[in-house]
Parts: sequence; structure tokens; C-alpha cells
Amino acid sequence: MKANNNPYTDRTEGDTKLKRNTRTSKGATVATHGGPRPDEQSGVLNPPVYRASTVFYPTVDAYKKRHDGYYDDVIYGLYGTKTTFALAEAISKLENASETLITSSGTAANALAAAAFLSAGDHLLAADCVYGTTRKFFETILQRFGVEVSFFNPRAGDEIRSEFRCNTRAVFLESPGSQLFEMIDIPAVVEAAKAAGAVTLIDNTWATPLNYRPLDHGVDISIQSGTKYFSGHSDIMIGSISVRSRAHFEQIKDMAGRWGNCASPDDCYLAHRGLRTLDVRMERHQRNALRLIEWLRRQHEVVRIRYPALEDDPGYPIWRRDYAGASGLFGVELKKMSDHAAAAFFDHLSLFGLGSSWGGYESLLVPAWPKPVRVANTVNEEHDLIRVHAGLEDPADLIADLDAAFERMRSATP
Ligand SMILES: *Cc1c(COP(=O)(O)O)cnc(C)c1O
Repeated sequence: MKANNNPYTDRTEGDTKLKRNTRTSKGATVATHGGPRPDEQSGVLNPPVYRASTVFYPTVDAYKKRHDGYYDDVIYGLYGTKTTFALAEAISKLENASETLITSSGTAANALAAAAFLSAGDHLLAADCVYGTTRKFFETILQRFGVEVSFFNPRAGDEIRSEFRCNTRAVFLESPGSQLFEMIDIPAVVEAAKAAGAVTLIDNTWATPLNYRPLDHGVDISIQSGTKYFSGHSDIMIGSISVRSRAHFEQIKDMAGRWGNCASPDDCYLAHRGLRTLDVRMERHQRNALRLIEWLRRQHEVVRIRYPALEDDPGYPIWRRDYAGASGLFGVELKKMSDHAAAAFFDHLSLFGLGSSWGGYESLLVPAWPKPVRVANTVNEEHDLIRVHAGLEDPADLIADLDAAFERMRSATP
């Protein structure tokens, strides 16, 4: 029996087919209700969209003291308005955070949060499986600014200890990892980081706080690309950084403010609206992913599925121990296709879209190339890797689309 890892509520043992417990009636409630109170805005349910650069002050004295409100108040458009703060408050509730900072994208959130804790001469220890652009930021910009960066095998477990240096100040995680879906033993990393006095940060976009709440497990900073599941509709760019400590919040807000990073009020509004349906969408994404996987596993070209919610996935024991559910994103390793067969497979899909960014309502299918950057785990050269995002469509229609793609690929294979 799985221990109760539900972030929000006592969970009953559930659906054996999904190998998860029925999730978060309380999580759903938090997602639905987090934000401003109607009685503070004439009874209107949703937060107003404040478009602002200029903010007026009643007296010269108030104007002189405006920066006293830098961290919490509306003092200038760049530092957030009530629209931004309403979204931040809702996310804080979901993450069980004391504070959340909203950024212009998930990429900005990862970069600003990591940079907030690093100076020239410090060492950043990052999981080998972090999102590609995050890795590029670490390897190019941070290194240029004099930060040492090294990458550890996400499957290192306790052996992470040997990766620490005397100047390690921050550890950056992402679990499961981008592209290869490796699960990190987060409690083991947190313990080692605490002993070393390093701050831990995680990009938690895949799980969302409904399926994993990092701050409850000792991680210091939880980051989301809200562009993905928070938004859910593939139409905005936004990020969030949630913390448990006021000092961390101030450090991160300083970093974001000095770089001039902020999210647009419309995008804050839309992300907030997306949160209202996050719970039902996540449940459907997971269910559709499992339906597609069930079908894909029966195709002889498919060698392996990368999705930690599957019992035969190497990350399964950790996922089962720590996570309350899974999302719609997974990897499929299949026997290498010729360019001709790959074109036949990808070019005529009718429902699956060929495009980056996932977490929206629509299903996506893209080829992935994890080899050039990775130092730890890679894909066997005999195989291709594709990344699937199971959207919210009827799974039978998605399977028909896949079936046609496999048929086209077979006909194009000599
Ligand atoms: C997409 C993504 C990001 C980047 O987020 P943007 O909002 O697109 O900048 C970061 N981390 C992960 C895991 C992602 O999938």
C-alpha cells in the first residue's frame, strides 16, 4: 500500500489501474478558491486586471518612502499589481509556500531563482536532466559570471554527496527530468544539500503542486513554468517561484526587480483562470497518457516508454513513494526510423500537433534529441525518442491518429 503522500488531504487507497490514489479533493478546492475575496471587490468573483506602470502617491512623504513597500505593495507596475499578487497568493496556497514571485516565463523563473543565490566563485550543482534552456543559462551566462557549474546524474541517489564541493551554494533539480524522465531521490538530495549548507531549487513543472509539493519535502524553492499546466491553454508565457523563507523571497525579488522582469497583467489573469480547472485537467491528462501508453506498448517498433508512473519504469519506486499523480507528458523510445519514415510518421498527423511547449489542452508529438547535451543518461543510438503530450481529446481519436501514423511509417520503411 502506498503511504499517504497526498499533499492536501488524507487519501484513500484508490484506483489500482492508475496505480495512484484518488487525488486531492482539497487540492481542487485550493485551486478553485485561491485568490482575492469577492467582498474586497464589490462582490466580483474574479481578480481585476490592473494595467499599470505609474502608481500615484498621495503626498511627497509617501512618495519618498515608496520603496519601503518594494516587496509587498503596489509601488510601480514592474514590481506587481493586485492582479499579480492575487495569482501569487493562489499559487502560494497550492505550493504551501509563504510567498510566490511571478515572472515573465518559466525560463526567467529558473534563471532568476538560481542566480539569486550565486556569486562569482560559488558552485552550482545541477541535475543533468534539467530543461535545455535552463542548462544553457547555467553553462553560458552563469559560467561567464564566474560561477562553477557541474551536472550530476539524476539517478545518483545517496551518491549525490560526493558531488558537493566546499563552495557549493545551490542545487538545482528537475524531476522527472526533461526528455528522459529520470526521477531524482529528492529527500536524499535535500539531506545532502542541508548538510552542505546549499539552497535547493526544483523545476516542478511536470508534476504541478497538485501531484508533488516540493516545499513540504524540504526543498527551499519550487519553480513552475506556468506556461504549461497552470495556463493550460497554450496562449501565455508565465513562471512562478515559491518559497518558504522571507529571506529567500527578498533575495529572489531583488534579482527579478533589478533585471526588470515581470509578467503582463493579462497573462497573470489567464494563469489564475487556468488554475481553476487545473485539477480536472491534470486528471484527464494522466488518464489519456495511460490510455495512449497502453496502446503504444503493443506496437512492435516501441522499445520502451519513459513515464515514472509505470511499474517497470526505473523511476517508479520514487514516484510511487513521493508523488500523488502523474501528468500527460512522456517519452517513447522506438526503433530508429529513416528520415523518410519519420516524415511519413510526423507530417500527416491530424490531431497531434508538432510543436514545443506542452501542458495545453491539445496533444503534441515531437522528436527529441537528448544526446548532445547530456553527460549521464542517454538514449541507445539504435533508437529514436519522441515526446508525447497527451491532451484532453477523446483518447480513442488520439489512438486512431497514432495508428495511422504507425501505418504510414511502416509503409515508408523498406
Ligand atoms: C517549458 C519548460 C520550461 C520553460 O518555461 P517557459 O515558460 O517556456 O519559459 C522550464 N522547465 C520545464 C520543465 C519546461 O517544460
